[in-house]
Order: sequence, then C-alpha cells, then structure tokens
Amino acid sequence: MTARYDAVILGLGIHGSASAYELARRGLRVAGIERFTAGHPRGSSHGATRMIRRAYPHPDWNEFVRHAYRGWERWERQAGMVFVHRTSGAYAHRSGGGLQGGRSRPASLDEVAEVLPGLRLPDGYHATLDPDAGVVEAGAALAWAHAAAAEAGAELSFGETVLGWAGDDEGVRVATDRRELLADRLVVAGGPWLSRLLPAVGVRAEVWRILTYSARPGQAAAQSPALGAFSVDLDEGLVFGLPEVAGAGAKIGVDAGVLWDPEIPVAPPTPEETGHLAGLLARFAPGVDVTGGEAAACLYTMTPDRRFLIGALADQPGVIVAAACSGHGFKFAPAVGEAVADLVEGIDRPDLDFLRPDREVLR
Ligand SMILES: Cc1cc2nc3c(=O)[nH]c(=O)nc-3n(C[C@H](O)[C@H](O)[C@H](O)COP(=O)(O)OP(=O)(O)OC[C@H]3O[C@@H](n4cnc5c(N)ncnc54)[C@H](O)[C@@H]3O)c2cc1C
Repeated sequence: MTARYDAVILGLGIHGSASAYELARRGLRVAGIERFTAGHPRGSSHGATRMIRRAYPHPDWNEFVRHAYRGWERWERQAGMVFVHRTSGAYAHRSGGGLQGGRSRPASLDEVAEVLPGLRLPDGYHATLDPDAGVVEAGAALAWAHAAAAEAGAELSFGETVLGWAGDDEGVRVATDRRELLADRLVVAGGPWLSRLLPAVGVRAEVWRILTYSARPGQAAAQSPALGAFSVDLDEGLVFGLPEVAGAGAKIGVDAGVLWDPEIPVAPPTPEETGHLAGLLARFAPGVDVTGGEAAACLYTMTPDRRFLIGALADQPGVIVAAACSGHGFKFAPAVGEAVADLVEGIDRPDLDFLRPDREVLR
C-alpha cells in the first residue's frame, strides 16, 4: 500500500525540518525523509552556532529578514528556549557600499571599538554596525525542529534515501530505497545535492568546502559585550566571526573554498588550514586565546546571485524547492518553514519573487 501525505519533505537539514514542523503544526499530513542521521555532518546545517543579522546588502531582503526574526521569537515561545543571542555585529568593508536594513547604520572604527572593544578591524575600512546581530544556537534549533515536527505529527525517517519522483494525476509519487509515498506536494530541501536532485531545472549552483575554527569556550574576551558578530572582506574572501555563546567558543571562517562533490564526505581541515584560521581569529579578536580550539568542515551551496531558491517548479507540478544557503540561509529557517507551508497550502507569496527558482540569473 502506498501511504498518502499532504506533503513529503526531501531532506531534514534545517530548512526541511522547519518546513516539516510548520506543515505538521498546521495539521497537514507530513512525511520527512533524511538520507543520513539527525544532525549529521555531511551537509550544511551541522555545528553549534550560526550568525544572524538584519544588515543585508539589498533592500529586497528586508521583509524576509523581518519574517526571520519574528519566526525565531515564535520558535523560542513554542520551545520555551532561547535560540537567538543578540550581541551586536560589525561588518567591515574596503569599499563604501555598506550593508543596510533594520537598525544597522554606518559607523566609524572608533565607534565600533566602543561597542565591541574586543574586536579589531583593519585601519581604513568602512563599517556597518547592526545592534540586532548575534548568534543562533543552530545545533539546539535543529534538534528542537526535529522533536517539534514529530510532536506535531510529522513522520520523520532517517537513514532513508529518496531515489526519485514522478508526478501523475494522483499527485507526486516519491520512490525511496525502502518504499513508495504519494503526496500532494513534494518539498525538495536537499541542500548541497540541489543540482543532482533537480538537474532538469538547470540551476547553476556550486558546492564549496567551507572551514571554520572555534576557540576554547570560557573566555570573557570572546563573549558579548567584548565581542560580537563580525565580518571583514579580505583578498582571500569574506572572513566571518561569531562570539562565544552558550558554551560554544568564538568561531571564525572564510566565505571561500574549493568545489566539492557532496557525495564525498567533506575532508576535515588540515593543520595548515586550521593554523591559518586560528591566526585570523587572533588578528581580529586579539584578546582571545586561540590555542587548543577545534576546526570543522561544512558545505555551502552557492547560487550565482547568492540568493536562495524558494518556490514551485514551473515544469514539475506539485514540486516545491526550498534551497536557502549561499552561506547565509540558517538565520531564515523559521521564515523558510513558514514560506514553504504557505506555498504547499496554495497561499500566494509575491514577497518571495526575488527568490523564484526560475529567475534568469540562475540559468
Ligand atoms: C561553515 C558554514 C557556516 C555558515 N554560517 C552561517 C551563518 O553564520 N548564518 C547563516 O544564516 N547561515 C550560515 N550558513 C548557511 C546555513 O548553514 C545553510 O544555509 C543551511 O544550513 C542550509 O540548510 P539546508 O536544510 O538547505 O541544507 P542541509 O542542511 O544540507 O540539508 C539538506 C539535507 O538533504 C538531505 N538529502 C539530500 N539528498 C537526499 C535524498 N536523495 N534523500 C534524502 N535526503 C537527502 C541531506 O542528507 C541533508 O541532510 C553556514 C553554512 C556553513 C557550511
């Protein structure tokens, strides 16, 4: 017997999990299928922390950012937990063109040093201060989204792989390595496997190996108010940094990496790569002891315009894609879940047109 669902979710990283939770919360019959274990390190959602900010390059993002912050407040109320720690953030760039949005504003390096005394930005840089920036407890949020989705009635299955799907007049038939499911809607939230899962869509998305280094926790110089979220654009790429929160040490990474095949487990950082990252953390947060920390590897799915893909596929009725990454998708998780649930329920979301999967730049 083929089980029938209102929606089947492919992938239970943060965006698939947020979608499963929101749909089940609305009373729909949902099955979530994840190839690996809960919280596994093969995709893009693992690790203790992620940055959140209102400061964004383009006003197109502002409303979706508002949805994201409201969504985290809703999740925190429903979980009775704190997921977001507001620490302020400073974003340094060589060119004048700063970030905008929310209460963020241009600031001198002296002003930044007053607000975040533990942060040292390069001379001659321009900066944007964002008082609402901070850190999301990503690991806790992902675990909660799994538990909350299951509690709301979603059937989550781990260690099961979707092999393919086909639309017919009854809906979308989804074949896995264990069974066939029938659904009104299939939500493809496959992260770095996007291009493999949707070859026909022909999205030019690259997968990058991204490295981070986290210092040992328990350091006041790494915590708010000394340190906040930050980024600095260097020749090697945009360096991003997060302060220590909730027992997770201060973290640093660079928005640049080699192309990677997600079918191959991502190679851990080498000692040279680890040393380089520790050196960057010491440079921008000189009060932090960077010895004895931990390095990690993860995957970005980069689109040409660094914007997400959220929407129905024109040529595949019943299939909705939810691919929000390009290195900055986690903060939007509650808003992505809400958006996907609206689209599954046939609620129009013109505010998401800037993330349409069929936009020209993706071809
Ligand atoms: C190092 C690093 C730092 C980052 N920092 C930030 C930050 O500070 N702020 C921020 O907002 N964002 C940040 N991001 C981005 C953010 O983490 C991602 O945008 C987000 O996690 C993407 O989630 P996802 O659910 O789309 O993908 P994933 O978590 O990769 O989930 C996709 C899932 O689909 C599953 N899957 C794939 N194919 C199949 C199949 N055939 N059958 C079943 N399951 C399948 C995979 O196993 C995987 O679990 C960062 C990312 C990295 C890597």
